Amino acid sequence: MNKMILVRYSEIHLKGKNRGFFEKILAHNIQEAITKFGAKVSKISGRYVVEGYQDDEESFVIESLKKVFGIYSISPALEIDTNSQSIQDVVTQIHLPLSVSSFKVAVTRADKSFPIHSTEFAAFLGGIILDNNSHVHVDLHKPETIIYVDIRENKKSYIYHEVIRCANGMPIGTSGSGLLLLSGGIDSPVAGYQLARRGMPLHAIHFHSFPYTSDLAKQKVIKLATILSEYTGNITLHMISFTKVQEAIHKYCKDEYMITIMRRIMMRIAEIIAKKNHLKAIITGESLAQVASQTVESITVTNHVVQDLPIFRPLIGLDKDDITVIATKIGTFETSILPYEDCCTVFLPKHPVIKPKLEQVEMEEKKLDIASLLQEALDSEEILETKNFVEMI
Ligand code: ATP
Ligand code: MG
Repeated sequence: MNKMILVRYSEIHLKGKNRGFFEKILAHNIQEAITKFGAKVSKISGRYVVEGYQDDEESFVIESLKKVFGIYSISPALEIDTNSQSIQDVVTQIHLPLSVSSFKVAVTRADKSFPIHSTEFAAFLGGIILDNNSHVHVDLHKPETIIYVDIRENKKSYIYHEVIRCANGMPIGTSGSGLLLLSGGIDSPVAGYQLARRGMPLHAIHFHSFPYTSDLAKQKVIKLATILSEYTGNITLHMISFTKVQEAIHKYCKDEYMITIMRRIMMRIAEIIAKKNHLKAIITGESLAQVASQTVESITVTNHVVQDLPIFRPLIGLDKDDITVIATKIGTFETSILPYEDCCTVFLPKHPVIKPKLEQVEMEEKKLDIASLLQEALDSEEILETKNFVEMI
């Protein structure tokens, strides 16, 4: 008898000929998440099995597995060699808590050579549980507890009662990588999470306005990236000084275009960094009409400067409330609301243009030496790796 965790995956079943590729990456990502517990992942038909951890670390292993994209659900289980006597022996040991009043036994028999039919065996095992637990009755339709007996092709059976839903999505690394524009706010970490959940490994780029913004603002962004990296694996964080850009726009351009031009320069820099690092997409946390720079007209004018890469805005149709729910679930919310200034709040105009016109924006930009501003910003790049910051979270 062996304590282990059964791991189920769903969507990657659908990938036909690519299935092996997806399974290999998922197994690799699971192993990465559990190596620190001395645990090992192995494959059985249509499932993975995680074992080899200490009993008192099981809850930590479970928490780690919940962050691996591609896992649909997990169940801490007992693994035994398949034969009806050994299954009966385990079921005889089941003592349901007094708070439980109804149950059922669900048997699945993937191993068709097992001689007893599922429903018949379930009824038989249910009888044993009834004999040993006088406070419960069987309810086949709405049981409070289900005892699962999973008889697999590998001549092993798995007995468990908990099915813990996990993050689902696609395993990280099954899609090309993307560059997340990461501010210190609530939205952009969620945007990164959403794309990572579709299998996309992330780099992140952050624009700071030191000395207008503080070192605490920078620490906050590092912390957000590090929290996100629990789901994505290591994130390379590109820190770019935006101070000179902002000072130049403030000095030479009309106030109301400040944000529009800032965003266009951010995008130009993001595209250069993305291409240099072979990243295939740019990701932002914009949500339609949330602020002046997120109207459809502003987004059009911003998109115009990006030549070759798609810009993914996974939050475009979500309300702040929806985004906050996800931020809370993934653990970034508490850090996002720390009150440190973002670069976008420096030199903020009172009346930003809400429906910018491309020709007017381009006229304003002619007042700037964009090429040297880009070069100066790129020269300021500081590269950090979140794997060096894991102890801070
Ligand atoms: P967030 O909550 O993510 O800060 P926001 O609602 O404050 O978003 P904006 O400030 O308009 O919205 O920014 C929109 C998007 O632009 C952000 O979600 C992020 O992707 C990107 N962005 C904004 N500021 C920065 C920055 N300083 N560095 C990197 N990306 C940024
Ligand atoms: Mg912001």
